[in-house]
Amino acid sequence: MGINDSSNQAIPFDIFLEDFRLRSRHAYRVRADIDQLSTNRGMPPFVMREVMSGNPLSVNIPEEFGGRGGKVEEILALLSAASYESLALSLTLGINSALFLQPLAKYGTAETKAMVFDRFMKAQNMGGLMITEPGHGSDALNMQTSFTSSGESYNIQGTKHWAGLTGWADFWLLTAREQMKNGDLKRDIDFFLCDVNQQGQQIVVEEFFDNLGLYQIPYGRNKIDVEVPLMYRLQPHSTGIKLLLDLLHRSRLQFPGMALGFIQRMLDEALAHTRDRSVSGKNLVSYDQVQYRLTELQSSYTIASAMCASSSEKAGIENDLSSSGVEANAVKSYVTDLMQNAAQSLVQLVGAKAYRLSHIGGRGITDSRPFQIFEGSNDMLYSQISDAVVKQMKQAKESNLYQFLSSNDLTGKATGFMKELLDFDLNFELPQRKMVELGQALSRIISMEKVLDLGEKGFRKDLIENSLLSLRKEISALVGQFNFNEQAKLIEDYQVNSTWYKLANR
Ligand SMILES: Cc1cc2nc3c(=O)[nH]c(=O)nc-3n(C[C@H](O)[C@H](O)[C@H](O)COP(=O)(O)OP(=O)(O)OC[C@H]3O[C@@H](n4cnc5c(N)ncnc54)[C@H](O)[C@@H]3O)c2cc1C
Repeated sequence: MGINDSSNQAIPFDIFLEDFRLRSRHAYRVRADIDQLSTNRGMPPFVMREVMSGNPLSVNIPEEFGGRGGKVEEILALLSAASYESLALSLTLGINSALFLQPLAKYGTAETKAMVFDRFMKAQNMGGLMITEPGHGSDALNMQTSFTSSGESYNIQGTKHWAGLTGWADFWLLTAREQMKNGDLKRDIDFFLCDVNQQGQQIVVEEFFDNLGLYQIPYGRNKIDVEVPLMYRLQPHSTGIKLLLDLLHRSRLQFPGMALGFIQRMLDEALAHTRDRSVSGKNLVSYDQVQYRLTELQSSYTIASAMCASSSEKAGIENDLSSSGVEANAVKSYVTDLMQNAAQSLVQLVGAKAYRLSHIGGRGITDSRPFQIFEGSNDMLYSQISDAVVKQMKQAKESNLYQFLSSNDLTGKATGFMKELLDFDLNFELPQRKMVELGQALSRIISMEKVLDLGEKGFRKDLIENSLLSLRKEISALVGQFNFNEQAKLIEDYQVNSTWYKLANR
């Protein structure tokens, strides 16, 4: 069976992955120059054709439909290979995987799965997810898009914006709340498949956005007024909100796949540049601060690797992840902070040459920035991690942070390294800013546990040790900051009596 055959289950994954790596490398470095390409919007058709020709998205498709069966380690390895070449390409595959194919495989009706998977396998179709509305982003549960049923179909109406692949995807999962007879909307949320190639299911793009980065992915505002068959409604196992949580947590646990290749690229570019560049008669790499930045990048590489290994065991669609918020939020928020830090560090090391759209580091800053915003803004996720931990501590009637964390599956081993730091009673009535700081510390402790696990599996020892050192340093700084209790208060009328030059030369 050749690698171009639409049914590629029989190909060993190493060969499948290498084929994808070569195709994307060729598309972005030989056929097109990604540095030039990236100053224009959109993905040239020949790039997409070349990258998609090996049918990478088949990794998400169940075996009975000709796919590779949705093995999470394959999906993450593929996302990582893609983000080494282009973060936008990786996000494109990530959207199709975690926000479309996986929820459809888990919750779609048999008829829709057969139809959609066939079109993905044979015609390289694409799918995305529309949740966000102009008035409702972080508070998505209050979305105003509504649906009604005539008994033969569903009519869905509303406005959605910022959905990745706007105007490009063939399929969408649309989220909406049921409109009752009195016009009010029910609390629960439902998911509907929409096939824009069908009559009555076209979605009108009212405006394309000038997104700051990720130029290859179109975003915009969509007017929804579609009529979809009854079987296009996804079938939640209990409530739609639980389906949403299961979907979002699974997606967040897979962010490390997109992060790993991106961080590795930032690291490799930084190593190559600092070995090559001479400043004041010395190679940059010989300066201590430069080495510090490079070891931090290596630590990020190790942490993202550890998260990938962990998620491979947890994020399969057979698992119900609706209650895995602490872990999923910790992984997503921390790894996206690491992505942004990696890009910032590369730009610092390269200097002015990197401050260009045509430089992978400069672009990396704007391309990775929204990862800290979408699928849960990091500020919010950090405070939610703390909310959940405080709730569990109250239930367990345990106020000592060390005692609680040392008996928890997500943190048991890591806390052993930090008893003196964490051995204090936690105030359960903290302001939100403190909850955010605590959440940041907890996310690093959870990640440290994953690094220890990766070490036990046999990952390179010196990388593990360096990463543990870096994590301990960060955690102790965060806990120190957390224990600093004075707080600045917001001054609303700050412009009054605050002009410095009226005080100059007094
Ligand atoms: C590049 C990109 C891709 C995206 N892709 C998709 C997609 O494919 N599908 C989709 O449906 N949506 C997508 N989104 C939308 C994204 O999920 C939302 O932007 C996100 O949920 C935040 O909503 P908002 O922008 O309306 O900000 P708001 O909800 O207005 O929040 C703005 C900021 O307020 C603060 N904040 C909000 N709530 C709290 C709180 N409770 N506590 C403390 N601070 C808070 C946070 O700092 C937050 O970043 C994408 C966005 C971007 C930028």
